[in-house]
Amino acid sequence: MKFTFFKKLAIVMIVGAGYLFTGCSNDTFTEETTTSQTSKTVLKTVGKNSSFIEELQQRKNQFIYFKNKLDGGDTSTQEFETFVKNEATPKFINETAFKLVKKAVLMAIDPDVYACGETPELDAYLSASTADWTFIDVLYYYFLSYHPTYDAYLLADPNDRGIFGPNGEYTNELQRNFKSLKRFWDINSGNIGMVPMTGRVYRDIERLITIERILYPSQTEEENRYFAELVNEIFGQDQFWNHTHPLLSFNAVAISLDGEIAGYYVGDRIAMGDGIMMAYEAIGLGDTGPSAILAHEFGHHIQYDNGYFNEVTPENEPEETRRTELMADAFSAYYLTHKRGATMNWWKVNQFMNVFYNIGDCSFTSPGHHGTHAQRMAAAQWGYNVANNHQKKGKIMGAHEFYLLFEAEYDGIINCTDCL
Ligand SMILES: [Zn+2]
Repeated sequence: MKFTFFKKLAIVMIVGAGYLFTGCSNDTFTEETTTSQTSKTVLKTVGKNSSFIEELQQRKNQFIYFKNKLDGGDTSTQEFETFVKNEATPKFINETAFKLVKKAVLMAIDPDVYACGETPELDAYLSASTADWTFIDVLYYYFLSYHPTYDAYLLADPNDRGIFGPNGEYTNELQRNFKSLKRFWDINSGNIGMVPMTGRVYRDIERLITIERILYPSQTEEENRYFAELVNEIFGQDQFWNHTHPLLSFNAVAISLDGEIAGYYVGDRIAMGDGIMMAYEAIGLGDTGPSAILAHEFGHHIQYDNGYFNEVTPENEPEETRRTELMADAFSAYYLTHKRGATMNWWKVNQFMNVFYNIGDCSFTSPGHHGTHAQRMAAAQWGYNVANNHQKKGKIMGAHEFYLLFEAEYDGIINCTDCL
């Protein structure tokens, strides 16, 4: 029965009328993951014909294509591997997150070919986590695991306290640091909320249906329910850790959008993915990971609030992304190591960032416009130095003063050669 249904969808290439995520505006999502490099992708105003919706539908059709092939008895992975390697980053995911996803699925197919040496501990962890995936599992993951992301963007309530981690294991640390960050930085942060991005959403059929309804305007209610029940069942299996597999939520995102999308008010929020925190914990960096990722995302909110994001054009986008990412790294290192911030040991923070800045950064060509590893480490080191010098006076620098210092130092940071 499922097979027939997929066939039907494969034939009818639906493109939504589109009432969502489209056009161009100054509202910005700074999407992260992992290296949290990246980027302003885009979320745009509601209401026009949407290439975003089209792209989503296209990916669903690609899933159906590969699934039909597999159901028809063709178990060769080669066409899919080529497809993955060449697929451009979809609009709804940032480049670094997407590189990580690509690498993870290719490693799931053949770890010997696709592992690379930049982040060996993390590769080993991810590779072990997908060791029991079959090809169809890889397809489900690659094409149909978008629900935690959109749940965090749209449905999660920033006024809730939130449960972070599969069993709430990160809730206290994140809440404590979130409060501390709000006190530490002198911006108007009262309206910023923190929401979980979590595979637990796969346990809630009604939420899944809502997400399907928002993202696929051409689907019928029956189809929405079909896909909701499908992903609930698939990602509930053991090989997906009963909805808690880290790759289902391997991301963290800072969002500032004063408006509604499909009837849901977005506002200012930070989405913290369970998966990325689980991975850092597993490789022994759990005591810095959640706070360090949160501090970086908070850095983006300083940028939103104080207007440090310049207008982005195709020409200046790479440089703007690099500048704002390096600045967020500096804000983060300053807070993390400051005596009145997270009071972390620089060596530990440094160790975390060494992994953080390398994630996903192999196997795929990248213009490196998010800042090289050395530049990101230099920005963090600079933030730490400022904290170290400044805190002797027991003071916390104003965000704007810090920003001005950073801008003055920026050329030195990006041109550093022997700074490590
Ligand atoms: Zn960032």
